[in-house]
Amino acid sequence: MSIAEWRQQLKLGKVSSLELVEEKLARIKKVDGKLHAFLEVTSDRARADAKRIDEARAKGQELPPLAGIPFAIKDNLCTKGVLTTCSSKMLEQFVPPYESTVTERLWNSGAVLLGKTNLDEFAMGSSTETSAFGATANPWNLARVPGGSSGGSAAAVASGECIASLGSDTGGSIRQPASFCGVVGLKPTYGRVSRWGLVAFASSLDQVGPFTTTVADSAEILQVIAGRDSRDSTCLEVAVPNYSETLNNSISGMRVGLIKECFEQNGLSDEVKKSVLESAQKLQLLGAELKEVSCPRFNDGIATYYVIAPSEASANLARYDGVKYGYRSMSTDNLSSMTTASRTEGFGSEVKRRILVGTYALSAGYVDAYYKKAQKVRTLIRNDFDNAFKQVDVLLTPTAPTTAFKVGTHSADPVSMYLSDLLTIPANLAGLPAISLPCGFDEAGLPIGMQLIGNVLEESRLLNVAHQYELEAGVMSGSPAGELIV
Ligand code: GLN
Repeated sequence: MSIAEWRQQLKLGKVSSLELVEEKLARIKKVDGKLHAFLEVTSDRARADAKRIDEARAKGQELPPLAGIPFAIKDNLCTKGVLTTCSSKMLEQFVPPYESTVTERLWNSGAVLLGKTNLDEFAMGSSTETSAFGATANPWNLARVPGGSSGGSAAAVASGECIASLGSDTGGSIRQPASFCGVVGLKPTYGRVSRWGLVAFASSLDQVGPFTTTVADSAEILQVIAGRDSRDSTCLEVAVPNYSETLNNSISGMRVGLIKECFEQNGLSDEVKKSVLESAQKLQLLGAELKEVSCPRFNDGIATYYVIAPSEASANLARYDGVKYGYRSMSTDNLSSMTTASRTEGFGSEVKRRILVGTYALSAGYVDAYYKKAQKVRTLIRNDFDNAFKQVDVLLTPTAPTTAFKVGTHSADPVSMYLSDLLTIPANLAGLPAISLPCGFDEAGLPIGMQLIGNVLEESRLLNVAHQYELEAGVMSGSPAGELIV
């Protein structure tokens, strides 16, 4: 059921907020031993919040839009008084003294926190396997990864452990796991949503967004979390439109661009390609015009990202020095070796790799050759999108080249892991909004995701097209037969 449907049930008294929370806690108890989507379940707080909402409802008080809706939150978003680990030994004991803007807005809208979800350490990865606290499984097939880095948040929604969740997307970490788990994942325009209280990975790329079972839910959540925040100077001072109001607009005459380079990828699975092309035809049936467009620099996205993201990460992660907060090694007795030992022991190998690459790319002798060059290519990639949006209204691509891969497939080869974000990274580099929504299944029964990319701040248009697609094709989130493997 969608958020709107739950809201109705709650309003009519068919279910109480507490019953809904209990149902979700029971579901977590039943399946999370196998999935490991959650790092922490905040049962007491969830029950107390639900009771408070039930009491307010009983008194006839007007309730905010998400009242009583149980949410899971990626564990790189600061939650006051609740552990926020980033799946890293470095922050294993970190209890933030403040609340992130996005979660604060959710709680102010009545949402209930069920718990914090697993991720790749510091959101670096594409499979949730780099978590210091163990991997998350894909609810459709436990031998497969849920994608990453927000694998826990995606798996929690797909398996019915919560109604919606938040993730963060630096290079695809909302969209790729949404695609692997068969749910809807939205990455807003850079600056649409505040990053305050999101543990920084690569600050010019990071954005927070929702995981949901329907596009309409995604619109509702964006409505709550979007908008100016005086605590994040990169958060745009632009009015937030009513995202739900335009979902039912006709898409007749909408120009949908198929990015040629995306469909010509070597590693693109035939089944994924076929499914996304069939989806394009469904859009055509709804009156959309299909057009092939070219973004010649699209394939340079990966190389560009893997200079820029690690560079920013190396600067951001320098704050973990064993002094101010986070893990401190007790194995040495002087300041400098203490810092070195804290980092050596506190960070996992993927995080160290990023810090090393970033420090190298920013070092005096190489900054022009790598970092500055990458920034120039980033502009060229953005220019390609600008040109494409002169010809079409939205762009369509597969979200990932394959469906969920087997656990361990890429763990020994970082570069092959990086390639799984080939199709999602360019939208981050250009700061554009993009949504992944389920569009079919492969022969193994695993979900396939399609990605719609919009022009800057055109979330309304993306949600409109995605919602119309969903109406035409049927909601494909979760298992159609309701038979998740767990
Ligand atoms: N998989 C990409 C990376 O490892 C993107 C991660 C993300 O979006 N947080 O950097």
